Amino acid sequence: MKYYSTRDKSKTVTAAQAIAQGLASDGGLFLPESIPSVSIDDISEMCSMDYRSRAVYIMAKYLDEFSEQELKGFVSEAYADNYDDEKIAPTRFLDDNTGVLELFHGPTCAFKDMALQMLPRLLTASLKKLGEKREVCILVATSGDTGKAALEGFADVQDTSIAVFYPRDGVSDVQKLQMTTQRGENVCVCSVEGNFDDAQTGVKLIFSDKDFAEKLDKSGVFLSSANSINWGRLLPQLAYYFSAYCDFVNAGKIKLGDEIDFCVPTGNFGDILAGWYAKKMGLPVRKLICASNCNNVLTDFINTGVYDKNRPFHTTISPSMDILVSSNLERLLFMLSDDSSVCTWMQQLKETGRYDVGEKVLAGVRADFDCGYAEDAQAKAAIKTLFEQCGYLMDTHTADAYVVLADKRAKGDCFPTVLVSTASPFKFADSVLDALGKPSDMPGAQLVSALEAATGVKAPAPLTGLDKKQVRFTQCTAKENMPDVVLDFASKRR
Ligand SMILES: *Cc1c(COP(=O)(O)O)cnc(C)c1O
Repeated sequence: MKYYSTRDKSKTVTAAQAIAQGLASDGGLFLPESIPSVSIDDISEMCSMDYRSRAVYIMAKYLDEFSEQELKGFVSEAYADNYDDEKIAPTRFLDDNTGVLELFHGPTCAFKDMALQMLPRLLTASLKKLGEKREVCILVATSGDTGKAALEGFADVQDTSIAVFYPRDGVSDVQKLQMTTQRGENVCVCSVEGNFDDAQTGVKLIFSDKDFAEKLDKSGVFLSSANSINWGRLLPQLAYYFSAYCDFVNAGKIKLGDEIDFCVPTGNFGDILAGWYAKKMGLPVRKLICASNCNNVLTDFINTGVYDKNRPFHTTISPSMDILVSSNLERLLFMLSDDSSVCTWMQQLKETGRYDVGEKVLAGVRADFDCGYAEDAQAKAAIKTLFEQCGYLMDTHTADAYVVLADKRAKGDCFPTVLVSTASPFKFADSVLDALGKPSDMPGAQLVSALEAATGVKAPAPLTGLDKKQVRFTQCTAKENMPDVVLDFASKRR
């Protein structure tokens, strides 16, 4: 299978090249040239597989350069006892129509692990296939969860290094501790003055700077991305949409072939875009419901076809969704329009912060997507109610999606729905305690035990004892100086 850039369809690359490069050299995102299909019989076959085999089954369709044996090897390392649930991504039913797909059982307790435990394996294998001799430096802008998941995925992986930038005032105490205490000799963690978009813009600028690339090349280093713009991050996520569907069938909640909805807490549009690919491959999905917090630029876009980031940026209790530029939307727009329009819209976004995709593309978007958003107060109330009524504790991001789903239910729509749960509630223990009406004014590490005590729910092992770990990284930089931080780190390593 070949891949091309969303900015130029004429140049194609192999899967290994797309994964190694991350972002296309013209600034676009890589896409597979066709979408492989999966039949109902195939899905029936997947129903009797475990998560690992389901993942191999789906990924193999996009990675014909990799042997099934290779993929099996990656998967058995990526989804192993680093997960605290043997089902890897279990579906828990709140009622007959609602299953919570728990994607937070990996080493950093957020759904990013589903992709970032796979990506280092896909990436190092891709570099080998390409005969690459230089060291790859992974550059990440994070709103919290990606950073830790990428650090954990790449720590001490041979021939790689990783530099992570997070917004100084935009991550939770627990998230910050998770990152600043990261183990590994090949890692660099630095905060940026500003919000997530500042950090992400800084990283994008570094990627597009040719002089900078030359400087790095002199020290035998090149850059790649572990942000969800990398196809190698998106691909592993397709598997859990199929897996949740199989879980619904196996639980007897639907018949094979029946449609279901997915309600997905969304920020950069990576998670939900994987769901869209699953639908296009043939998974029986009625709607993908895009749930936002009050940074609801996507809600407005799906309702009107106008993407407008000129609005106040809100710091919310679901920080991993505090995003005004959802990078992966570009992939969807490309699939729904002709290629020259995407270039124009992205240029308009850069220059004016706004673009309008028009009636036809909007109709395409609305055929597959519904949307909604939650205010913090609504999300908090939902956390409290669900815990008190069902004994189910969810995190703040999942709660945003829960509010949107509850709204749909209140309107009489009882369609079977997978609520995609993206983080352990303990990762956002301060806001969850607050939602439950408990004190939350204490240091990060204590919050985790306080939430355990308040709920009787056991915290995941990676989040306990964070206060006993040594803080290794304290650097903070202005966004203009991010290139220097990277250069300094890369040159010291060589
Ligand atoms: C990253 C993240 C999201 C948003 O996912 P996108 O792929 O950026 O849309 C939602 N919830 C949590 C907990 C996350 O870490």
